[in-house]
Amino acid sequence: MTAAGRESAQAGAPPWSAHVLTLYPEVFPGPLGAALAGRSLDSGLWRLETVDIRRFARDKHGTVDDHPFGGGAGMVMRPDVLAAAIDSVEPAEGGAPRFLLSPRGAPLTQEQVKELADGPGVMLICGRFEGVDERVLEGRGVAELSVGDYVLSGGEIAAMAVIDACVRLLPGVVGRPSSLVEESFEDDLLEYPQYTRPRLFEGRAVPDVLLSGDHAAIDAWRRAQAEHVTRTRRADLWARHQARR
Ligand code: SAH
Repeated sequence: MTAAGRESAQAGAPPWSAHVLTLYPEVFPGPLGAALAGRSLDSGLWRLETVDIRRFARDKHGTVDDHPFGGGAGMVMRPDVLAAAIDSVEPAEGGAPRFLLSPRGAPLTQEQVKELADGPGVMLICGRFEGVDERVLEGRGVAELSVGDYVLSGGEIAAMAVIDACVRLLPGVVGRPSSLVEESFEDDLLEYPQYTRPRLFEGRAVPDVLLSGDHAAIDAWRRAQAEHVTRTRRADLWARHQARR
């Protein structure tokens, strides 16, 4: 454990924790083991626990799914198996919220990411097949959470997206917290365009204002760019941004 990890351990509060229930525990940590997320995982700033849903199957074949009542294509994850997997996780202090990754959930927003990062952690259930028996969601207080209006083949990649978005907001994970303040979705605006060296790239110059050293002019230019990008790309965000005024 590094100094930062020891510090948070000494502070008494358990680190932010993600419990992931999945039929494919071997795919974790995957990309969460690299770069910012991986380093902070190694140093104990957050915890990742996977639970193999198949361990809770009730027969020797490890059956976790069955045909849908009412007919139709595909298979459905059994409620008894999933409930046992959920119940195997100790409730976190204060109770971490439980989510099934699902295209039927409300799409995740940066605002919700902030709330989750401020809490004790999350339990994320990765669906497979056609989905999950509705009764386990009701019985175990599981909400549904989507990562966008498209269909993935399983919840694992979606769970990684949720965890990655939360972890980068945890104290001590990003070296310069000021870099989190001006990001996309702050104020319902997308970020302005960025430039670095070289000054001339394939005949394209960096906008003059960014080389001017005039910070007020730079701020105004960035603001105007952020507004333009948001207005032209995301009518939905732009409407929310304007409603804030
Ligand atoms: N039949 C379902 C889709 C099943 S996709 C439907 O039409 O709603 C299989 C699993 O992938 C889901 O149970 C869910 O866990 C995951 N998944 C698919 N798309 C997702 C999305 N947009 N966001 C989050 N999870 C998703």
